[in-house]
Amino acid sequence: MRCPFCGAADTRVVDSRLSHDGDQVRRRRECVECKERFTSFEVAELTLPRMIKSNGSREPFREDKLRAGMLRALEKRPVDANRIEASINRIKKALMTRGDREVSSRDVGELVMQELSLLDHVAYVRFASVYRSFQDVKEFRDVIDRLENQRETET
Ligand SMILES: [Zn+2]
Repeated sequence: MRCPFCGAADTRVVDSRLSHDGDQVRRRRECVECKERFTSFEVAELTLPRMIKSNGSREPFREDKLRAGMLRALEKRPVDANRIEASINRIKKALMTRGDREVSSRDVGELVMQELSLLDHVAYVRFASVYRSFQDVKEFRDVIDRLENQRETET
């Protein structure tokens, strides 16, 4: 880390300790050139990326919006609320661990579809038909056929 006093490129860590809550590392550094000392802090970056919408505009990630979209697809379906929350948490975790500052709404949509396909096939098709806006009727038909075959093999 660069020295904030003289701008030298090299500084030496003389002490390193975890903050009391364990979320932050505090490092005492000394400049190898001017011998000034300063402190740096290191924290894990676990923030949700911003969303890039299809028109190119950016907006902060909104969990309430994600939840609303999923609940709309799951309306009147026999799915436990706890399972829905678990899905939302998996989506958020997947987005956080990517480490990207921005993510396209399409990528988020794919994650949602992946989760919905595990929760409820009807909800999956509802969401997919709106979200992916199927290129043609055939593509939509293929998805439904695939789900129906899946259901047959499950029962
Ligand atoms: Zn210095």
